[in-house]
Amino acid sequence: MGTRKRVHAFVRVKPTDDFAHEMIKYGGDNKTIDIHLKKDTRRGVVNNQQTDWSFKLDGVLHDASQDLVYETVAKDVVSQALNGYNGTIMCYGQTGAGKTYTMTGATENYKHRGILPRALQQVFKMIEECPTQAITVRVSYLEIYNESLFDLLSTLPYAEPSVTPMTIVESPQGVFIKGLSVHLTSQEEDAFSLLFEGETNRIIASHTMNKNSSRSHCIFTIYVEAHSRTLSDEKYITSKINLVDLAGSERLGKSGSEGRVLKEATYINKSLSFLEQAIIALGDQKRDHIPFRQCKLTHALKDSLGGNCNMVLVTNIYGEAAQLEETLSSLRFASRMKLVTTEPAINEKYDAEIINLRQIQEVFNQFRVVLSQQEQEVESALRRKYTLIDKNDFSAISAVQKAGLVDVDGHLVGEPDGQGFGLGVAPSSTRPGKKSKSKKMFKEQLSSLARKEGARSPVSGKDLDASTSKTQLTPSSKDGDVKDMLLQDRETSSIEPLASESPKEELHPPRPSTPPAKPVAFEDFKNERGSEINRIFKENKSILNERRKRASETTQRINAIKREIDMTKEALNFHKSLREKQGEYENKGLMIIDEEEFLLILKLKDLKKQYRTEYQDLQDLRAEIQYCQHLVDQCRHRLLTEFDIWYNESFFVPEDLQVALKPGDSIRPGMMPLSRILSLGEDDQDRFSRLQQTMLPEGPDSVSFYNAKVKTEQKHNYLKTMMGLQQTHRK
Ligand code: ADP
Ligand code: MG
Repeated sequence: MGTRKRVHAFVRVKPTDDFAHEMIKYGGDNKTIDIHLKKDTRRGVVNNQQTDWSFKLDGVLHDASQDLVYETVAKDVVSQALNGYNGTIMCYGQTGAGKTYTMTGATENYKHRGILPRALQQVFKMIEECPTQAITVRVSYLEIYNESLFDLLSTLPYAEPSVTPMTIVESPQGVFIKGLSVHLTSQEEDAFSLLFEGETNRIIASHTMNKNSSRSHCIFTIYVEAHSRTLSDEKYITSKINLVDLAGSERLGKSGSEGRVLKEATYINKSLSFLEQAIIALGDQKRDHIPFRQCKLTHALKDSLGGNCNMVLVTNIYGEAAQLEETLSSLRFASRMKLVTTEPAINEKYDAEIINLRQIQEVFNQFRVVLSQQEQEVESALRRKYTLIDKNDFSAISAVQKAGLVDVDGHLVGEPDGQGFGLGVAPSSTRPGKKSKSKKMFKEQLSSLARKEGARSPVSGKDLDASTSKTQLTPSSKDGDVKDMLLQDRETSSIEPLASESPKEELHPPRPSTPPAKPVAFEDFKNERGSEINRIFKENKSILNERRKRASETTQRINAIKREIDMTKEALNFHKSLREKQGEYENKGLMIIDEEEFLLILKLKDLKKQYRTEYQDLQDLRAEIQYCQHLVDQCRHRLLTEFDIWYNESFFVPEDLQVALKPGDSIRPGMMPLSRILSLGEDDQDRFSRLQQTMLPEGPDSVSFYNAKVKTEQKHNYLKTMMGLQQTHRK
């Protein structure tokens, strides 16, 4: 703290076959870029036109992979954000030079993902590695177009701009945008879904509202809030990471433009030059007034530029001669930014005394996250148990059925339903440490709430605290108890406690006033709110089963080929030994073989080829199965989670709290619950399998990326269909 930091300025050159070697030269230090312009002879032999420039930046990224760009540009900014430093990474440059590619990357291809998804991954990874902190992550996605603000994560992407426009508000806690939706994300995949959602909305908005997306600034913000678990301190740390994809910097409509284009040009040129002015003013220690409020861009970024912030600029340029003029102007901008020094400082805050409904809602959102994580844990605990149940042990099975722990399609939860390829991915929340973390996080929030709240509030802290205990969570719910018991009992592999627990059920039949037993309610749920997700679940499952069947068939073929290979080899060896006995070698060292032996060799060659092909197929299938298994697990989890929410909302949430929990709310507030998504259409199926193909080489880290991608596409196709239907209906 206290040491001044420079703005870090990098230049990234877009790959091209037509690189202007004679005009653009890189220094050996990878930091210098020299531009040489041929003299314009039309201006006469003697002129003062400058022809050579040299720019020294923090790094020249030429032919750099997305991976390297992230390492160089973003990694430190993101890791410092978890220590409380705000960070801003901006891409600047003319349209087409690669700003969006650098920032967002290709959403179809995991390997080419940009800074945004990688930053999210890093944040979640760091949270996992930091058990002493209770860290929450939120995201928002703002677009600024012609000085108007648009929420790219608003729930109504197809609607006209909202009636009450968003406004930028300054508060002692920093700058925030009133009306911009900020989404709590508890896992990487949710964050990816929001990112894809935003990207899709950005494209849709550019069509429906006739906006040119290269003329807008987009700011994706990751908000981090960290409370210490070990110190019962009121002090906590907040930070923001702003990832900014600026509007194209090219000088637009130099001559003769009018109307919309002129308006856009004016706004962009103004906001980019205001941005520069603000940053330069920040670097000037003598200046006490920084002109932040001149435009929306600088105003929205006020607490994230300079000041207390780590700032990185990536200037995207073309390496082609035709673009040299814009390239020069971009490089000038970069080198001016590089001179600016700022003073990063930690954002420390203290728990405020105010409590409002929003905070209560927030706690409830946390609560649901915990609930869903517990569901996942129960599920995996069950999986471990029930794989051990003998299928002929009817008493064990009926005990399980009585407890309501039967999978939606009649299988035992966790029963392996395939033939031999149990390649499931463990849900992330089953990894060690996570459960206690989330539970504790929630408890802490509750108790801090309770402390602040006192007895006057409609929801006393005591009530809230009680609701975390398992008995209050699902009061009088036997299966809830069984699940909890299983959760505690997960270390032992015996089924005994469950079986002995079941008679209790008969002793306490549900009274008419008590809610329906979970298995009964679950059937209702599957026919009502859960019908769509149930359908998707079943579909995914049948895809998975089909793949497993194919894998099993392939294995059988492979084994058959292997047997034939062995037999052929034996036959060949027999021929060989015969020959050796007869001493049938020619003097010249040539081997004489009979026709039968020759055919055997050919056959062996052919068999080996078949073996390799089948083996490759099997490998591919295994990867597909792994991916499908993950989807199925997720669907099952969603189904159970949504069921629990529905069950608790319907039967247990006190009326005064039902106001806070809007009906139909899913885990992720503001987003459409998956249960409302229609089944996969033909196109989706295609895309689905295509995605599966493309993700194969990239390993398990890419699963949540592609999952989120598929879901976003499904959702938007569904919305599109609905929009279409509505319009036809109107006509
Ligand atoms: P901008 O956002 O600056 O207008 P884009 O990021 O949309 O530009 O890039 C324009 C096109 O060039 C896109 O098709 C993008 O995929 C491609 N592109 C840009 N930079 C790279 C790069 N470094 N490697 C491969 N393709 C790139
Ligand atoms: Mg772009």
